[in-house]
Amino acid sequence: MAEKLGRLNIVTPLDLLFHYPRTYINYQNPAPIRSLRIGDQAVIRGKIRDMSTKRTARKWMSIIEFIVGDESGELKVIYFNQPYLKNVFKEGEEYNFSGKVGFDFQANLKSLASPQYSQKPEILPIYPETRGVTSKYLQKLNTLCLAESSKIEEFLPAEVIKSSGLLSQAEALVKIHQPKSLLESDKAKRRLAFEELYLTSLRAQLFRKELKKNQAPVVNIKDADLVKFVDSLKFKLTIAQKKSAWQIINDLKKNEPMNRLLNGDVGSGKTVVAAMAIYSAVKAGYKAIILAPTDILANQHFETLKELLEPFKITVDLVTANRKERSKGAELTVGTHALFFDKKPIENMALVVIDEQHRFGVSQREALLNSYKFTCLPAGMANNGTNIQNYESGRSGKNTIRPHLLSMTATPIPRTLQLTLYGDLDVSIIDELPAGRKKTLTKVYADSNRQKAYDLIRQEIKSGHQVFVICPLIEEAEPGENLLELDKKSVISEFEKLKKRVFPEFNIGLMHGRLKVKEKTAVMDQFIKGEIDLLVSTSVVEVGVDIPKATVMMVEDAERFGLATLHQFRGRVGRNNLVAHCLLMTRSLVPDALTRLKALENIDSGFQLAEMDLKFRGPGQVYGALQSGFNNLRLDWISDIFILEEAREAAKKTLERRPDLSDLPLLKAKLDERFESVHLE
Ligand code: ADP
Ligand code: MG
Repeated sequence: MAEKLGRLNIVTPLDLLFHYPRTYINYQNPAPIRSLRIGDQAVIRGKIRDMSTKRTARKWMSIIEFIVGDESGELKVIYFNQPYLKNVFKEGEEYNFSGKVGFDFQANLKSLASPQYSQKPEILPIYPETRGVTSKYLQKLNTLCLAESSKIEEFLPAEVIKSSGLLSQAEALVKIHQPKSLLESDKAKRRLAFEELYLTSLRAQLFRKELKKNQAPVVNIKDADLVKFVDSLKFKLTIAQKKSAWQIINDLKKNEPMNRLLNGDVGSGKTVVAAMAIYSAVKAGYKAIILAPTDILANQHFETLKELLEPFKITVDLVTANRKERSKGAELTVGTHALFFDKKPIENMALVVIDEQHRFGVSQREALLNSYKFTCLPAGMANNGTNIQNYESGRSGKNTIRPHLLSMTATPIPRTLQLTLYGDLDVSIIDELPAGRKKTLTKVYADSNRQKAYDLIRQEIKSGHQVFVICPLIEEAEPGENLLELDKKSVISEFEKLKKRVFPEFNIGLMHGRLKVKEKTAVMDQFIKGEIDLLVSTSVVEVGVDIPKATVMMVEDAERFGLATLHQFRGRVGRNNLVAHCLLMTRSLVPDALTRLKALENIDSGFQLAEMDLKFRGPGQVYGALQSGFNNLRLDWISDIFILEEAREAAKKTLERRPDLSDLPLLKAKLDERFESVHLE
């Protein structure tokens, strides 16, 4: 089992305890069978009768079926390929079942297929599972580990626990895995979410403080030089672009490192603003670097920035996994993670730009800044190699020279969340799109209207345009395996369907996270070149890629995504003044889900949509979409906004009282553990 558990990143008993439940089945409140509606996720309790086992003729599957009845009515329960269950259930006894209500035409009864079950009226945790590791198994292991939970030492300062009314970590772990009531699990969630936000905020504040202690190269650019650059552009900058550029250029003039986030919708034109900063740095005699999360994006930036900067005799170079050799001395280096492994120092580095910054973990961003090769070495000044992570007092020298940092993101971040995640970092916002950009026509389609959506796609491809189809999951789950996921659209079966049955006349491409980097790049290249008409992809597809001819974005099971995420998908089409369409497909009948999706039909502002996400789905969901590298967090738990501020305030107070975290060795260790363990992709 060790190998299988390893797939869930469970190696030690603590890993197991930190593998939090995804949800719970509450057997304490069964519903009357009669009240169930088809499609409901239901919990019932009833007596078993008429159990029978058989095998199907065609696929030779074993089947166990029986009738379950309570005072109000009866339904049928069926299990596939779990023959041992005939020794688990006894006729005449009462059990609890939980599953999605269907209908059995043979029996003319409502039905549950492979439901979860329990004999006791308990609350059962459901974990993220993998093949061969069920929630039942994890529950058993957890019981063993929790017997030792009292040995877990509290790392939060006592005053924080007290003032915020939190459970201790040991208590929280017991209650998250074995709650006696949902109230208990809620308290545990609150503690664990608080702890995460507190650590994140503490980290951000420490980083900010450290950064301020350093100096940065002063980048002075003459207005006349900037005018030359702006005049060379094929378009007029928007007011928001000008304002952001002005803020950035002012920061660069200071001798303290800039730490600014440039936040603007997809297509709002962040690249050219970054180019102005780069141009300024190079004009002042320094070098710059721009980091992108994928090869494809890096390539695209390379091409764009060459076009913008080469007229000014600025040399541009590219470093990706496939292209490691670097011509030493280029003034701008465009690159991916590959740069982390590149040992040749770039000297005189004054500016680091990180695109789609949320795709990099916090530690990756810091590691990048810490990395000696990006440390600026102006003539006559030695780099003393001080590490920014050494936040113990006195260790970092005041004269360390750091490059300015410009992060960019298209993810609209509500202000409360941003403060907690990034500390009080400076933000520039591009909140307008270039003139003449047409509004993407967005429409929610019920499944019954699918044909209309396909007709539209056919028409678009026939007029030479391209189409994205986004699906939530990679593989179809097997019956009985991961029931909640079972009805998710699978990208592979969707690809097969579109290729063979719906659009056999077009070239259909497939993209998902399990492809190798090379394969992904090849597919994306084909799409960029127009050799692929329609690309079926999981949501991992490159965020910022510019496909000028793409006019349709179709999202399957759209209700599974946040509004801000959907808005980002939508931003990938309609970049070239062509009329673009966003088709939001849904099979959900939940009124709330439809209302939420409909908001996209009318609202164009990513910021407004992010605020709605915050309201509808809670900060945890929004946070989850922002952070990468923290895979094991169950922060969709965070259901109230106040906890964000509370955690941030608590972190601030801790630092006021103990600026170097002295007397808090456990907290320090926890910070290191949490932020060192983020791995490169
Ligand atoms: P993003 O903010 O998503 O990174 P890009 O920088 O890729 O956006 O810009 C999207 C497109 O808009 C590019 O083709 C770019 O040349 C163009 N663009 C940028 N600014 C303007 C502008 N002010 N007017 C017209 N087009 C612009
Ligand atoms: Mg971009």
